[in-house]
Amino acid sequence: MGKLGLGVAVGCAVASCAIAAVVVGRRVRSRKQWWKVVSAVNEFEEAASTPVGRLRQVVDAMAVEMHAGLASEGGSKLKMLLTFVDNLPDGSENGIYYALHVGGTNFRILRIQLGGQRSILGHDVERKPIPQHLMTRTSEEFFDFIALSLKDFVERKGDNLQLSQVRGKDLGFTFSFPVKQTSVSSGTLIKWTKGFAIEDMVEKDVVECLQKALSRRGLDMNVAALVNDSVGTLAVGHFLDKDTVAAVVIGTGTNACYLERADAVIKCQGLLTTSGGMVINMEWGNFWFSHLPRTSYDIDLDAESQNPNDQGFEKMISGMYLGDIVRRVIRRMSLESDIFGPLSSKLSKRFVLSTPLMAAMHEDDSPDLGEVAKILEETLDIRDIPLKVRKIVVKVCDVVTRRAARLAAAGIVGILKKIGRDGTGGIAGGRIKGIKSGKMRRTVVAVEGGLYTSYTIFREYLNEAVAEILGEDIAPFVILKMMEDGSGIGAAMLAASNSARSVDTVQVL
Ligand code: ADP
Ligand code: MG
Repeated sequence: MGKLGLGVAVGCAVASCAIAAVVVGRRVRSRKQWWKVVSAVNEFEEAASTPVGRLRQVVDAMAVEMHAGLASEGGSKLKMLLTFVDNLPDGSENGIYYALHVGGTNFRILRIQLGGQRSILGHDVERKPIPQHLMTRTSEEFFDFIALSLKDFVERKGDNLQLSQVRGKDLGFTFSFPVKQTSVSSGTLIKWTKGFAIEDMVEKDVVECLQKALSRRGLDMNVAALVNDSVGTLAVGHFLDKDTVAAVVIGTGTNACYLERADAVIKCQGLLTTSGGMVINMEWGNFWFSHLPRTSYDIDLDAESQNPNDQGFEKMISGMYLGDIVRRVIRRMSLESDIFGPLSSKLSKRFVLSTPLMAAMHEDDSPDLGEVAKILEETLDIRDIPLKVRKIVVKVCDVVTRRAARLAAAGIVGILKKIGRDGTGGIAGGRIKGIKSGKMRRTVVAVEGGLYTSYTIFREYLNEAVAEILGEDIAPFVILKMMEDGSGIGAAMLAASNSARSVDTVQVL
């Protein structure tokens, strides 16, 4: 080989070494990046884990907080509000009733015809989105919109009657925000949640606002029952099945209520009810317990929310937030590595990934996770990512959903514990081995809300966790019943069954 030949050969060898070094370097870097992402997901999964032991701690904390909230006003983060509903519908109700439902993304108007013997002869529902701008303006504009929509509905569906012929009809009003109830048909708004912020309504009587708007619009209807959505769900649950003792809503927000003994409501001395019981609206979205599996993403979500340090349980459970937790985890992974390509500005936009979209990714069962790729591209501007990265995204959705469902399940068992229906002997008793299931009564919990009714994996995780916490002896006695649109129908039923009742004045300690 001549000098030139040797020089060329050496040059080629150096060049290929350099190329090889670059390739190897890239591979090492990409492997490092991959492990960074994997460890971020593992870390998140660990922080969000909900082993049954931890869930049982949540059960106990829920029961203890319920007790504290009933003992004195402000005694707990759980408000444990009196609803003045002391008689739940029993199926004997008859006639045509209307209901309005305000409480989330959609506003609903309902008309039901009850025929006695637990029968619903007719049921009409109309859903309307609440215009975004009305959620932060004045109460007058807000209620005018509602009254006008109701008037339009009554005119169209009003049994082919003239408006003048439906005068005096009883109306149930489901208003799913924290309300301090003063009777079954009056109550003042404590605070807004779920993105609403009509400042002039706080501390105002919501029924008075609605009733005035109805008069302004010439609708002579009587608001006979003001209820929270969970109370409406309990009412319809009880109408259909007398063993229903509690109701839970898991939709945009989350809440629960249950039937309590009047004498257990320590903060209300001399609470007299005809039935000896009263429905308590827990406002459980605000439940807090220091051992909840909270992650850095939850902390950031809370800090950037409209209501920091508030509704802590809701922020880990409900539909308003789950998609946004997933977005935060993807953002962090995208910041730490380039496996998602260049950092998308969409990833910094709060709530850009809605919970239904997150659920669609989670439930994608196609072999190439095509739906995941489509949603990532269309919603987050993340393109062309390999299958293994799509799988990571599905894993994140799973961790967020599983934690939410299992925490909600623990909350439900907490309620059952408080009323002695979890087989452990109530709040004072610990977990007893070989529980006397002979003493257990059939217990039904009505569950409503889009997250539970429309998101199958969420529902399965929740049902499974309730059974796991209760154990195999007790679980068969506890039935979770799905109630679609239950809260609205329940409000109309309560308008039917509670309009003429009242509870003696009580003194709140
Ligand atoms: P609201 O709580 O506003 O009264 P819903 O009970 O219908 O209304 O719940 C709507 C919420 O449920 C949505 O905000 C969304 O977070 C969640 N949701 C609805 N459908 C689905 C779905 N298919 N998968 C996951 N979440 C869903
Ligand atoms: Mg709802």
